[in-house]
Amino acid sequence: MDQKGLLIVISGFSGAGKGTLVKELVDRYGYSLSISCTTREPRAGEVDGVDYHFKNKEEFERLIDYNGFIEYAQYVENYYGTPRKFVEDEMAAGHNVILEIEVQGAINIKKQYPDAVTMFISAPSAAILRERLVGRGSEDEATINKRMKRAITEADSMPVYDYIVINDDLEDCVNQVQSIIVAESSKSKYKEGFMDEIKDELQSV
Ligand code: 5GP
Repeated sequence: MDQKGLLIVISGFSGAGKGTLVKELVDRYGYSLSISCTTREPRAGEVDGVDYHFKNKEEFERLIDYNGFIEYAQYVENYYGTPRKFVEDEMAAGHNVILEIEVQGAINIKKQYPDAVTMFISAPSAAILRERLVGRGSEDEATINKRMKRAITEADSMPVYDYIVINDDLEDCVNQVQSIIVAESSKSKYKEGFMDEIKDELQSV
């Protein structure tokens, strides 16, 4: 069966728990996580090649010129881009690939790959979103306010996503996203190899 992998795009408000969700999906189900390139400075604890491929502006722009990204966007004065080779190779090998990207990137991906499954992760309410940002303890009041402001514009983009997933409880959220992935990859259009095989087998029993 030569089923190609699914392209799964995950976006969401800062503080919605995307990072933890994606980590769980990768750990539990072995999905391939695309590591983006960025020109922003690494945060404390971030590792080059693990969290991001950290590049300077010149390196990033050279990669743009070489068609090295399937999408890239400018976000808060920095570039972020999804490396083309990793994603294309993994999908061709039949692996499901997760991209954790912002909305411009999600729209761009959907144009190029209409079969991509796009999901927007939200906290159950604005109050809980703020609570989670405060609870992280990693951002000051001004940064939290900036992120909450940004969430207002991000909310306008929610209708472009295929699915809205509310992250109230992590376990429920992981299960919900996994159910979506299983349902999407069970569509008959991805099962041609299986359908041909079983038809042949039925002829010979
Ligand atoms: P952060 O700087 O907080 O790690 O990421 C900022 C935003 O950039 C997040 O919304 C994240 O999902 C998004 N992002 C990360 N990598 C990419 C990418 O390759 N392409 C796009 N379009 N957005 C990305």
